[in-house]
Amino acid sequence: MAVAENVRPLAGSRTAWLRWRPEVSTELLALLASVFFAVACNYELWHTLVADVQAHARLLVAVFVFVVALQAFLLGLVLTRWTAKPLLTLLFLATAFAAYYMTTYKVYLDPDMIRNVLETDPHEASELLVSGLLLPLLALAVLPIAALWRLRLRSRTWLRAAWIRLAFLAGMLVLAAGGALFAFQDLSALARNHREVRYLVTPTNYVVSLSKVLLATPPGPAKPLLPIGEDAHELARADGGRPRLVVFVLGETVRAQNWGLDGYLRQTTPQLAAMDDVVNFPDVESCGTSTQVSVPCLFSPYGRHAYDQARIRSHQSLLHVLLRAGVQVLWRDNQSGCKRVCDGLAFESMARATDPALCDPRRCFDEILLSGLQARIRPDGRDRIVVLHQLGNHGPAYYQRYPPAFRRFTPTCDTEQLGNCSRQQIVNSYDNAVLYTDHFLARAIDLLRNEPGYDSALVYVSDHGESLGENGLFLHGVPRAIAPTQQTRVPMVMWFSPGFAQQQRLDLACLRQVAGEPASHDNLFPTILGMFQVQTGIYEPKLDLLRGCEHTRP
Ligand SMILES: [Zn+2]
Repeated sequence: MAVAENVRPLAGSRTAWLRWRPEVSTELLALLASVFFAVACNYELWHTLVADVQAHARLLVAVFVFVVALQAFLLGLVLTRWTAKPLLTLLFLATAFAAYYMTTYKVYLDPDMIRNVLETDPHEASELLVSGLLLPLLALAVLPIAALWRLRLRSRTWLRAAWIRLAFLAGMLVLAAGGALFAFQDLSALARNHREVRYLVTPTNYVVSLSKVLLATPPGPAKPLLPIGEDAHELARADGGRPRLVVFVLGETVRAQNWGLDGYLRQTTPQLAAMDDVVNFPDVESCGTSTQVSVPCLFSPYGRHAYDQARIRSHQSLLHVLLRAGVQVLWRDNQSGCKRVCDGLAFESMARATDPALCDPRRCFDEILLSGLQARIRPDGRDRIVVLHQLGNHGPAYYQRYPPAFRRFTPTCDTEQLGNCSRQQIVNSYDNAVLYTDHFLARAIDLLRNEPGYDSALVYVSDHGESLGENGLFLHGVPRAIAPTQQTRVPMVMWFSPGFAQQQRLDLACLRQVAGEPASHDNLFPTILGMFQVQTGIYEPKLDLLRGCEHTRP
């Protein structure tokens, strides 16, 4: 009996699709997948090579052959008849996401960016899941996955399969070498001068970066941080001096270019500008271009000048040194945590607070960081530092970072899909969020002015800047070496109560002069130690911004 008689009649196209079950070898599948990735999922790579590197045709061909052969080789190492479909399904899916975010925000998927992704909290992640993802997901994941599962993979005897696989791997290496030799000089110049381009080769970029991050942070409980500044101790206060309170406001994603006090044409900092006792630092460079890099770095004695990420992440922070010297420490967080900077120290997350005036079920506005603060810092004779970690200008949902009263620059971009807004709308929303940080800082300073139990000071600095469409870039996280100034120049301000200035014999006119000079996140570690007069071998006086203006110290 003919098989066809048992098949129920189906619509023509559906029958054709169901009958379509071609047989391919696993090697051919690896090669096809690699060509698909190179052609369909690497827009950012080709665009950068053409537009930024100005690669000529010969170099483009060389890169294409090299990338296809190399990725096919890597696939050839892991794909078997049993692993091919599940692994490729995972890769198609992840690569569709990667391609979408790389093209939309022009991000490089290096280990720092992957760490960023892994440490993103669910609320931040949900803001990145947007309807604009649907089409790329359909074209780059759903369709290839559907086709993949229609294929039949050729079965071979064990010995024959091994020989063919070895020949395939060798062939791909030869092809990759051939591609490289085809434009060898240009390719080696590319590798030297545009090293970051390798983080555009998808999916190798995120697979390699993810492996690096996972290898650097083995599973299981994190290792205890290595101590620093074990000799730290505080000098006795002058007679009659009140305990010191320093509020360190750790800002988020505010760039110097849009900071009213730094000369931005729009006054985005009206409340701070109206205070004549605020000192503004207009020329400050951030350690990194992402929270994951900048936050550990700016609390570390090693900083950017001797940058060593593994060393920074494995050692204690400024806060541990202060505690050892007798300063009480509290970290209040309206974001995704302190990145181990406050490991083992007092930590209070405000992000899930329920104050109806400041919070919706997803988020709180930054003023939540001031809520109940006075009760937490009742004077008891001891010195204190409080870190307030803002949500600040965290993107792309800038419009959700400020209450309606701060919607002063209009029209705004009221969606996280920046592609649906004009540049001006995006900038308006961003600037409104800066206005709100200005208001938040002014309220924090007012709170300190009304705290007679302390001689107090406030330091504000942003962790990194942001791109708002300049050169097609959005958000942040471009590798530090090639990052534009929009991502690395950040606002910084300080305020001192009259009692604090008097206790430190601080000359504010002198400090205003110093504030005009270039500074960086590296200055914060010694400056804050100096504010508490902590003595330790890791204190570097030449980086202390206040030192030259304090008449108590030579
Ligand atoms: Zn950040």
